[in-house]
Amino acid sequence: MAIVQPLDSSRLRLSSPEDGRHLEDLDISSTAEVDAAVERARAAQPAWARRPVAERAAILRRAVDVLVARREEIVEQVRAETGKPRVEALAIELVPACDFVNYWCKRAPRDLRTEKRGLHGYLLPMKKLRINYQPLGVVGVITPWNGPFVLSLNPTVQALLAGNAVVLKPSEVTPRSGEFAVRVLREAGVPEDVVQVVHGDGSTGAALVDSEVGKIAFTGSVGTGRRIAAACAEKLTPCTLELGGKDAMIVCADADLERAAAGAVYLSMFNTGQVCLSVERIYVVDSVADEFIRLVAEKASRMRPGEDVGPLFFDRQAEVVDRHVRDAEQRGAEVLLGGSAAEGDGLHFQPTVVTGADHGMALMREETFGPVASIMRVRDEDEAIRLANDSDYGLGGSVFTTSQARAERIAARMTTGSVVHNDAAVIYGVPEAPFGGRKNSGLGQVNGVHSLRGFTHPQPVLLSRGRAKRESIWYPYTD
Ligand code: NAD
Repeated sequence: MAIVQPLDSSRLRLSSPEDGRHLEDLDISSTAEVDAAVERARAAQPAWARRPVAERAAILRRAVDVLVARREEIVEQVRAETGKPRVEALAIELVPACDFVNYWCKRAPRDLRTEKRGLHGYLLPMKKLRINYQPLGVVGVITPWNGPFVLSLNPTVQALLAGNAVVLKPSEVTPRSGEFAVRVLREAGVPEDVVQVVHGDGSTGAALVDSEVGKIAFTGSVGTGRRIAAACAEKLTPCTLELGGKDAMIVCADADLERAAAGAVYLSMFNTGQVCLSVERIYVVDSVADEFIRLVAEKASRMRPGEDVGPLFFDRQAEVVDRHVRDAEQRGAEVLLGGSAAEGDGLHFQPTVVTGADHGMALMREETFGPVASIMRVRDEDEAIRLANDSDYGLGGSVFTTSQARAERIAARMTTGSVVHNDAAVIYGVPEAPFGGRKNSGLGQVNGVHSLRGFTHPQPVLLSRGRAKRESIWYPYTD
């Protein structure tokens, strides 16, 4: 069953991952339509930018009321396109969306106002420094299908607060969920031309990258990220890239094994494992491995497919997950639980536990993005850290230990964008944290002050304090 099928060059056919039911045919925005949207945004942006940041924040804050009022529609829209369990649509899309809007609206007036900085040099005693955070113009936001609502809303809100206009290109797999973020912001009071949406597949995204945008904020796969970075390099358009991950979980000998096992199951399988920060590799220290594996298998066997774990969101994902599990099996891993597609019409895959995994397997090297807990035994903590770092990706990582000092020591040695103690993935929902990937996992930050200010150009303005006719160093030279 295909979820997204091109009908012709101007339309896509969308169907439900839950049961294959036809949802709708979607018109693809042509290059001319993308350019026209960007032109309208360019025309509208200066007036938006002239409003004080506190005024923009007051408008955007109303989006929380809209989110609350429209929560059922948003949840239903996300569920129609993804098949996520209701609790996931609420807990990993809607609730973080409210948190993000609240947080950015509170921070923006402080973090984006003109900053006064002291000067330390001897040469310029009569000057003072100001830093203006100027908007970049129109920001093109391009987003994936796995968190289609919140991943579209979060960068869009930040870009708007910074005084930019936004043209959003949501994933062709989940276009209406992304579009809903734009509807919410318009309903909150953002002018129509200041926040717009265009639809289509990669060619629509490429047209947006090629248009007159001041920045691209991209979330998606490594391959697309590279193509976007190359296109941006041609025009020296700034871009942030939030890309894939292959996050490792390290289970130390002193871990609370009940918690670690419950975490391993949830963090590998929530959103059907289709999260950039999912636990994709589990390294457990030998001395506790038997008990840990027993607990993981027991907890995973109690999961209810369809209720606890939704379907994979589209057919390509189902193929990848199946290929990785088959490859692991052929290379000597043991499938303790699940391991294949579940019965029925949709794209359900059984909750799966694999042991005896190693780094020769795609399961431990490539993004699997499925409900699979892949476990490898290691001698000790050092081996766990070495293997965790042996990856082309460097997005997140987690350490399960009852010792905070040990967690901090291990975190310092991990070459990942973030590390979480006795949990994982939640870092995305922490707007204070400057979350972003290393290695193939990306460039730049999605959260934290770095991210908000990343939607601006920090313009230093050097002001003169006194009325001197010339500076002491100007001609003619004297001692
Ligand atoms: P994708 O790269 O296939 O598509 C992402 C978006 O880019 C879509 O809107 C798509 O239409 C568009 N696109 C495709 N080709 C393009 C091109 N040449 N130019 C411009 N736009 C183009 O990714 P996906 O499969 O939708 O998303 C899954 C990936 O996203 C996974 O790798 C996942 O780890 C990653 N992801 C990362 C984060 C993060 O914060 N690091 C968050 C969520 C998802």
